[in-house]
Amino acid sequence: MTNTTKDFTADTRASHFDVEKIRKDFPILQQEVHGKPLIYLDNAATSQTPTVVVDALRKYYFEYNSNVHRGVHRLSQIATDAYEGTRKKIQHFLNAKSNEEIIFTKGTTDGINLIAASFGRGLIKQGDEIVISAMEHHSNIVPWQMMCEERGAKLRIIPINDNGEIIFEAYEGLLNERTKLVSIVHTSNSLGTVNPLREIIDLAHSKGVPVLVDGAQAVPHTHVDVQALDCDFFVFSSHKVFGPTGIGVLYGKKEWLQKLPPYQGGGDMILNVTFESTKFNDLPYKFEAGTPNIADVIGLGVAIDYIQKVGYSAISAYENELIRYAVQRLSEIEGLRFIGQAKKRAGAVSFVLENVHPHDIGTILDREGVAVRTGHHCTQPVMQRFKVPATTRASFAFYNTKEEIDALIKALYKVIEMFS
Ligand code: PLP
Repeated sequence: MTNTTKDFTADTRASHFDVEKIRKDFPILQQEVHGKPLIYLDNAATSQTPTVVVDALRKYYFEYNSNVHRGVHRLSQIATDAYEGTRKKIQHFLNAKSNEEIIFTKGTTDGINLIAASFGRGLIKQGDEIVISAMEHHSNIVPWQMMCEERGAKLRIIPINDNGEIIFEAYEGLLNERTKLVSIVHTSNSLGTVNPLREIIDLAHSKGVPVLVDGAQAVPHTHVDVQALDCDFFVFSSHKVFGPTGIGVLYGKKEWLQKLPPYQGGGDMILNVTFESTKFNDLPYKFEAGTPNIADVIGLGVAIDYIQKVGYSAISAYENELIRYAVQRLSEIEGLRFIGQAKKRAGAVSFVLENVHPHDIGTILDREGVAVRTGHHCTQPVMQRFKVPATTRASFAFYNTKEEIDALIKALYKVIEMFS
């Protein structure tokens, strides 16, 4: 990531990025923690929310709170327009062919569970295989394990190398006539690795296998074009892209969504119900049973507007520079070992410090106002692969600064001093 021509161009643009102006949009960043300015470096877990998003939620509840798709009254019409307007917005944001391909979920986990349950029920039989990688979040492991156990199918794992990159030849070797789906993370939350998705998807498609992409850590940092990727399913969470919690998106190619049975039954996902049988609704409603999370869908739409206003090219240019700086400064620390050193990375930097448990690091950093994540990051197999119990992870957003990275480094030296 650090030495390409693309990144050099990016740096030039990054120097014009007005981060102080952006920080004003995030009131939560203006506070002190334990008497020190808050330095929020846990963005991979949850990103912060700009004022415009909170204002949109307030407006919804104060001015037009009502159910969607049902009422002919004024408030319901406004709510329905805002809800469906967001679906169109997300269609364009992801460059999906149709707004019928955009399903609102509770988040990434919910989207993967939806596909695992529906795919399992509709298309998986004994002896079939699902391929995932060794760097998946538990959300992209456990739903497949559960489904495989239920259907008598098998989970196959693409191994990763010491840098935290998938071993492509091993992936190739795993694909066979029993493979029914590949489900793979776009950007690893614990290693920061950005996977070569186009190659992964092309290879799967050459064998007739569809691919689900876990985009939870991709959308905050990079523009995703589902048609260019040619993925069959793509999932992400709102709370990692500056939107509210409890909402997310599943994109699915129309031909797949038409083929799959509904995940849950209930209101809104039906056209007609008798005690004998039910006729399911058209897409996308077939997969949205019950009253949806209307306010937060609308909030997510405003968060997407916000990201687009800042602009992905400016975001990735600025963040690339931040990560490069973080890696450079962290490398200066004796006894620090990076976990994950992929050539292509984004968002997060994970490391361990000799003789100090990550939880102690996290606690001491917190006293310095620095919020990082310590633990297994819901990727226990990654910890097993690298033979560490946990790591410390600093993860970045476009409102972070180099001064905050300096503060992280200073706090880490304090940790080292305390343990020496
Ligand atoms: N996948 C990845 C790569 C993640 O980083 C996360 C959350 O950290 C998830 C899935 C799960 O996301 P959520 O908890 O929003 O469903």
